[in-house]
Amino acid sequence: MGTFLDSVPFSGIIRIRDMMYTVKDPYRLDQGDVSFDSPDTVKTAMHRAIDENRTHYLQTTGLPRLLELLAEKLRAVNHIPVGGPDEVMVTTGGIHGLFVICQALLEPGDEVVVPDPEWPPAVGNILAAHGVPVPCRLHEDLGWRYDLDELASKIGPKTRAIYINSPNNPTGGVLTRSDLEQIVRLCEERKLWLISDEAYEDVVFEGEHVSPASFPGAYDRVVSLFTFSKSYAMTGLRLGYVLARDGVLRDRMKKALFYTASNVASVVQFGGIGALEGSQECVRAFRDELKARRRLFYDGIKESAAGVLSGDPPAGAFYAFLRIDRSWQPPPDITNPSRSWAMTEFLISKGRIGCVPGVDFGANGEDHVRFCFARDRAELTGALDSMRVMFQGSKVLRF
Ligand code: PMP
Repeated sequence: MGTFLDSVPFSGIIRIRDMMYTVKDPYRLDQGDVSFDSPDTVKTAMHRAIDENRTHYLQTTGLPRLLELLAEKLRAVNHIPVGGPDEVMVTTGGIHGLFVICQALLEPGDEVVVPDPEWPPAVGNILAAHGVPVPCRLHEDLGWRYDLDELASKIGPKTRAIYINSPNNPTGGVLTRSDLEQIVRLCEERKLWLISDEAYEDVVFEGEHVSPASFPGAYDRVVSLFTFSKSYAMTGLRLGYVLARDGVLRDRMKKALFYTASNVASVVQFGGIGALEGSQECVRAFRDELKARRRLFYDGIKESAAGVLSGDPPAGAFYAFLRIDRSWQPPPDITNPSRSWAMTEFLISKGRIGCVPGVDFGANGEDHVRFCFARDRAELTGALDSMRVMFQGSKVLRF
């Protein structure tokens, strides 16, 4: 029996999902999902694929046309010197891509430096590959970026890779070009792999998205991970892709891919072709709308949370990672010793507002809660109204 899997935790997000099902008329700001519909370019391509009976086995790494389009996109948009479509493989979402990368890259006991706070499946996938995640703090006062000396200090004899995620889930921090260049150089000096999770590449409000594999010479040691989920509102369709120049690593990744999926669902891959061949206007429109929702949510929080929850709008991604004021006291019936869990239980049970406790993303996330502002405006406004009632008037809550 794979008893070691008992030591790989599920994220608290699962527990929250269960809690949310017990709430009537909830505001689902806990879910990291956009409210947008997939664009017609995707849906039409999928309809056509069904009508044409494109429902059979495919090449393991993906449809040749899709790989070709992805290689072109990675060259033109991400400025990565991709040699050809064989360097790309599609996966059942980004989470599966990360699984495949970790299985292919890590030996038991290998350490991977991960951001703290970070999307829990990053840690889970490293553990599932018998690796050891080593957290390195992102600093709120640096816009949720690293202190790069601190990052270097986390590297030891067992370090195999650094995993980065910019824009970051849950904080929305975006690493600068200079940060990324220094991280790439650090990996070169210390002979490490760099795993670059670029799930939110299209959701940057301030600054720019830079792919680390685009720096001269970097592509040899950067394994990059992307997804259609956020860019094209395709979260449930499960389409991601990974990119590596190293042929040995790719062969191993291909095995991990084959034994877990054989190939990604054919109809979904045709949807991906539709997304890339069609107009990219939806990507810009989604970003503009998310920017407006960010403003709506942060303006609302200032007023509704009465200083109990606060933070600066994030430079990227679509999460509000808000600090819990020290003076806040949970009501007596909420006894969870973690403040971020206590706040989450309070918001869910008394306000019907879904959110995720910061500590679920790492120890450095304690005293924060995450809300997703990619939900539709009515849901955001409803949550803010509910919060206003909960936090009304006083900064220090007394029960
Ligand atoms: N990386 C990060 C940082 C994410 O937040 C997510 C989704 N929440 C993913 C990767 C993967 O997304 P998916 O599996 O839907 O492609």
